[in-house]
Amino acid sequence: MLRNDQLDQWDRDTFFHPSTHLGQFARGEAPNRVIRTASGVFIEDRDGNRLLDAFAGLYCVNAGYGRQEIAEAIAEQARELAYYHAYVGHGTEASITLAKMILDRAPTGMSKVYFGLGGSDANETNVKLVWYYNNVLGRPEKKKIISRWRGYHGSGLITGSLTGLELFHKKFDLPVEQVIHTEAPYYFRREDPNQSEDQFVAHCVAELEALIAREGADTIAAFIGEPVLGTGGIVPPPEGYWAAIQDVLRKHDILLIADEVVTGFGRLGSMFGSDHYGLEPDLITIAKGLTSAYAPLSGSIVGDRMWKVLEQGTDENGPIGHGWTYSAHPIGAAAGIANLQLIDDLNLMSNAGEVGAYLNRSMAEALGDHPNVGDVRGEGMLCAVEFVKDRDSRTFFDAADKIGPSVAAKLLEQDKVIARAMPQGDILGFAPPFCLSRDEADTVVAATRRAVETVLG
Ligand code: PLP
Repeated sequence: MLRNDQLDQWDRDTFFHPSTHLGQFARGEAPNRVIRTASGVFIEDRDGNRLLDAFAGLYCVNAGYGRQEIAEAIAEQARELAYYHAYVGHGTEASITLAKMILDRAPTGMSKVYFGLGGSDANETNVKLVWYYNNVLGRPEKKKIISRWRGYHGSGLITGSLTGLELFHKKFDLPVEQVIHTEAPYYFRREDPNQSEDQFVAHCVAELEALIAREGADTIAAFIGEPVLGTGGIVPPPEGYWAAIQDVLRKHDILLIADEVVTGFGRLGSMFGSDHYGLEPDLITIAKGLTSAYAPLSGSIVGDRMWKVLEQGTDENGPIGHGWTYSAHPIGAAAGIANLQLIDDLNLMSNAGEVGAYLNRSMAEALGDHPNVGDVRGEGMLCAVEFVKDRDSRTFFDAADKIGPSVAAKLLEQDKVIARAMPQGDILGFAPPFCLSRDEADTVVAATRRAVETVLG
């Protein structure tokens, strides 16, 4: 085995890490951590630290670490058939079985699954399908996509544009002109402090209507949203938001893409966020929880009304010109089958709902009265704590104070618990594996309280 100092040097010299301060990292001013193994909700690094991962990697290891059933399925598939493509009607037993399993679990009205590798490429596929759809229908002007500020949909050219976070646009010449943004359903950060939740929903609807009026409904193809805003701050929607937004979309014949990369397959205690909040999407993006990240795999679930037009399109134009070498990779598919089976067998989805509610309740009890905690919120196995300089006036800290990152760093240093400092605002995010126990939830909450008190008093 390589020595740690050797590995550290190679890491600094050769490895381009995503979402990392490149200069500081290369110069050795920012820490690195090399993970060696993991089990349940714990990961272990090469220095022997055992850390409670309360963010499940990047909210993806839903079934928990070290699941031998999934590892065995991957190994067996690799031995039997590591690869074959899915072009022109080819497939494998694993990829076909998984498509069936996904549709059996999907909300009603869904027709087919297109497989990709990650959430970003699945959303890239979705946008292409939306454009194709409107071209086949003879509406070449109807192409713009509406996304929300603070939405996260990936970091490619189109998907980075859909993402409504500054960091993902700055210096990349994004967003591209086909993508336009509207108000985030973020009640805690509403501009008018006197607005009720109902009034705030009406405001979001009015903003959307105004955007559509400005741009022209005949130029707008689709609206994309996460059922619960994720990377933008872990923000469940205000009551009635999705019903009101969908009324507007229907009125203007605008398709709905539900990005369920985080919420799909149980994180809210329901199979899909669309079921949880009554969304009726035309396309659903899935990734992370599909395989619990044991292998890279994503998908676009295509609804009936879109599928009919896609068929018409290929009847008129020939085969669809869209495909990746690794679409429906059998190893990813084998991981997906074993993962979904395990989630059923171990009742992990109901555990996510029950222990998630317990985690949210306990966090609110432990931190709700702290003068610098403005909001504790969540849904299912998603939870967030938002810090403020002053509670009464809802004044936020300066980003330069780095309160969120400091609390996350203390949490790790003092109690070896991993939470995520969300990228825009001082927001500490939790998204543990579904197998989190109540005892482990207690550990997370007590450690968070200690970290908050150390940083903020
Ligand atoms: N959509 C959502 C809601 C996400 O949270 C993410 C990743 O965090 C993505 C899309 C992009 O997925 P990936 O990083 O696999 O490309």
